[in-house]
This record gives sequence, structure tokens and C-alpha cells, in this order.
Amino acid sequence: MHDHPTTFSGGLEKSRPRRRPYDNGRRAQGSTLKAEGNAQRRLSPFQLSALSFRLDCLGPRRRARAFCRTVLLFLLVLADTGCTYLRLKPPEPPPAPAVRNLTAVRENLEAADEFSAHLLLTEIGRVKASGFDGPIWRVAYRPLQAGLKQVLILAGLHGNETAGVDYVLALIQGLSTTTPPDFMCDIDILPLINPWGWVHDRPYAPSGIDIADDFTRFDSHEARIVRRFLREKRYDLVLDLREDPRVMGFYLRQYGMGSSRASAAAVDRVRSAGYPIENDPNRFLQRPADGIVDIPLWRLRVWPLSRHLTMGGYLRRNMSANVVTVITPAVRPLADRIAMQRLAVETLLAACAEPQGEAEAHSK
Ligand SMILES: [Zn+2]
Repeated sequence: MHDHPTTFSGGLEKSRPRRRPYDNGRRAQGSTLKAEGNAQRRLSPFQLSALSFRLDCLGPRRRARAFCRTVLLFLLVLADTGCTYLRLKPPEPPPAPAVRNLTAVRENLEAADEFSAHLLLTEIGRVKASGFDGPIWRVAYRPLQAGLKQVLILAGLHGNETAGVDYVLALIQGLSTTTPPDFMCDIDILPLINPWGWVHDRPYAPSGIDIADDFTRFDSHEARIVRRFLREKRYDLVLDLREDPRVMGFYLRQYGMGSSRASAAAVDRVRSAGYPIENDPNRFLQRPADGIVDIPLWRLRVWPLSRHLTMGGYLRRNMSANVVTVITPAVRPLADRIAMQRLAVETLLAACAEPQGEAEAHSK
């Protein structure tokens, strides 16, 4: 796909339309665009009266509010779109040596499948890159009871974020050996969405695409495989296990959820175990306040316009009303991060498995 490394200025140069020398002359003659100072004079009397009529219909305060709203929306779309164009040509990833191996993971998953009647291991697709061919696994956990909540857990989207993967592999191990079952939910687990990234300790797909932002364009194999798996599926809860190298504390990102009660309980559990919670209510966009980033639904409606809907946003729009990303600070020791992931996931699963009436009352 992206064979040629493209510099930033190179990309800009290409996107700028070539203007032929005689263009300027032609524009000056006919169009109103060219004449900056004359723009108003060039409006026809009819256009002017229509415009002033429309403005008069609104009161001055409503007019100001409408104007602010339009400007804000425009800026948001512009900001998001700008990011997309910067990411349009991801830089050629430097050659990556393999630092992890899928064999042990496969053996553990196969052993868990073998051992437990409640676990089923399948492949939902394969990722192929030069010298690499690895599966995206799915582990289905079914305690074999009627009327259970449906949960999806995803890990390893960014291949260098390992705590979620390690935790989820331990979780599968536990699920295979514990009777009676720990969790009374049906759980689908995708333990390693980006197997190439995990093996090479790289965040992105082999092509350099950030899978996390690829759920509008679906340029990466990984995003397409996940989309195919999710077709026709609905979940009561989706948990995406991630890490963040820029923060010192734990936090959750929730998408268009009416209540942050379950998230707050998970944050409290992590905090009371002695781990730091990310809290910066003053930072500009999408920074956690007291360990929670609450993304409103309207933002999920604007995102696709900018052509990079995140995986969480995609899941929230199509598969589940409850989508939470669990994010541990990558600077902390691995054992701490795995423990934080465990505390949060256990709390969120317990909240989801609550009796129907109670859970519904809370979600209002
Ligand atoms: Zn990440």
C-alpha cells in the first residue's frame, strides 16, 4: 500500500492543485471569489434582501448562539479532518525485529479450549505481512445458562500495549479452570487484535495504519477482520483494553453512556488498591476527569465526517450501548498495569451481570 515514504511537505505539495498561469486572469474577470474587498458589493440586491430577512427572523441572542454553534462545529470537523490528512500517508514503518512469539500464546489458548467445556477457541481471520502469518483468535466463553448478558472483550489493538493482552490471557486461563464459573456472562474475547504489532512491539498494523482510527475507512486487514466478525452481533457491554504512554494514572473512556456509575465504581476499585488515577479536569479535549473520559454521543455522529471513526465509536454506534476503554499508564511496572486491568474489568463485568431491573434503572 504505502510503499513510498512521503514527507509531510511532499503530501501537502501533492494535494495543492496545480494552477496554470492564465488561471488568475480568468478568475479576475468572472468570479466574485477573487475580489476579496468587493465581496459584498457583488451580491445581487435580491441575495442581500434574502440574507437580511433570514438574519432578522432570529433574535440577536439566538443569532449569536447559532453563529457560535456553527463556528464550533466547523472547527471540530476541521480539526478532525486535519488529523486525517496528516495520517493519510503513514510514514513507512522502520524495519521491525520480532520480539515476541505467538507459539506460547497458541499453546495456552489451545490448552484452555481443551480443558474446559465452557471455552471454544476459533480463528476469525489471518494477518499476513512479509515474513509473517498470524491468526486473530476469538475465545468464546459460555457458562451454558439461559438469559446471560453478552460481553465482548478486546485486547492488543496497539501491539506495544501489552498489559491488556497479558491480563486477558490470564483471564482465559482462569475461566478454563474455575468451577463454578467466576462470571455469569457470555463473553467473546479477542485477545490479540493486532498480532503482527504484538510480535514486533509496534502500535500499528504492518502497513503503518493505526487500526484504532480505521473504522470508517477500513484500510487495514485487522479492522476488516474485526468488522466481519462483528457483523450482526450485539453486546450488552464491550471492553477494549488499552494503554497510554503519556499519562501517569489509570483511566476509562466511555462512549455515549447515560451513566458513569459502573465506570466510577471501577475507578474507585483501582484507586482503593493504591494505584494512581489520571485526573486533569482543566485540560482541553478528551482528558480524564477523575479517571473518566465521557465521550458524548453527538461526537460519535461528527466523527465519521472526518473519516476516522475510532473502534470504540464504531462499536458504540453499531454493536453496544455500553462501550468502555480501559486504559493503564504504560510508564508503570507491567505487574501493576495487569493488576489495574484486572480490577477494572472484574468490576465492570460484575456491574453488567447485575439483575436486569437494577442494571436498567442505573443505565437511565
Ligand atoms: Zn494506544
